[in-house]
Amino acid sequence: MPGRLQDKAALITGAGSGIGLESSILFAQEGANVLLVDVNLPAAEKVQKLIADRFPNVKSAAFKADVGKEEDVKAAVDKAVELFGRLDVMFNNAGIMHPADDNALNTEEKIWDLTHTINVKGVWWGCKYAILAMRNNPVDEAKGLHTGGSIINTASFVAIMGAATPQLAYTASKGAVLAMTRELAMVHAREGIRFNSICPGPLKTPLLMDFLNTPEKRDRRLVHLPMGRFGEAVEVAKGALFLASDDSSYMTGTDFKVDGGLTSAY
Ligand code: NAD
Repeated sequence: MPGRLQDKAALITGAGSGIGLESSILFAQEGANVLLVDVNLPAAEKVQKLIADRFPNVKSAAFKADVGKEEDVKAAVDKAVELFGRLDVMFNNAGIMHPADDNALNTEEKIWDLTHTINVKGVWWGCKYAILAMRNNPVDEAKGLHTGGSIINTASFVAIMGAATPQLAYTASKGAVLAMTRELAMVHAREGIRFNSICPGPLKTPLLMDFLNTPEKRDRRLVHLPMGRFGEAVEVAKGALFLASDDSSYMTGTDFKVDGGLTSAY
């Protein structure tokens, strides 16, 4: 049986860890050729090796890029098109959260700027170069489906509700991702390019565990989680797979929550 992303070409940023790592494996398992992009090349190479061993029928490669640099993002998209001949799925997932006390009074401007360069401009540039690449994709008349492409941007539950732990620059950056994704979805809907945000809840990945670096901080966050546990990166990757595939062909502009019920909590 063909996979849900059979023969599609996907680029995943932040592919060396957490959500990006699990999505890379899942996308490959579902038949996609995958370009694994990360600023940490050895981490991406490790994932690529795992994929090459487990799924020898798909093409995969690791690529070093800092999404906070426009020329790197362009080079990554160019590489995907060079290797796979097209780009169907762009997962703008890489992001950072500064572990320092990030509140209105303490946040340093350089932390704010770095967070926004990676989390906001990185997503913008990812969308920009993916749109340009996807415009070259043919429409699949036989399937009657838009084949322009699917662009998924990782936002966060903090873009929807306030977090009690100070992370102001991060929160503001994720709000920008959500707003940007909605507008892009509207502007490009008629050319068959879909844009959706994925909004993870608190996950057991290095990004959050480094931030909630004491048992007290973790317990405090757990109190707010209806399911009483942190999510697994693979649970978000399954949501990303749905948004990447034609199963979500009538969805664009959504904020797709994979948050253990957090954003519905009282
Ligand atoms: P992670 O720390 O496990 O992985 C992030 C990956 O991104 C790492 O491999 C890192 O090397 C890479 N990266 C960092 N900066 C980069 C850059 N400038 N260019 C390219 N790659 C870069 O984190 P994660 O939890 O998987 O987070 C992935 C996304 O999910 C982020 O956008 C994060 O903000 C978002 N998110 C995470 C949580 C959570 O609880 N973990 C919740 C909501 C949203």
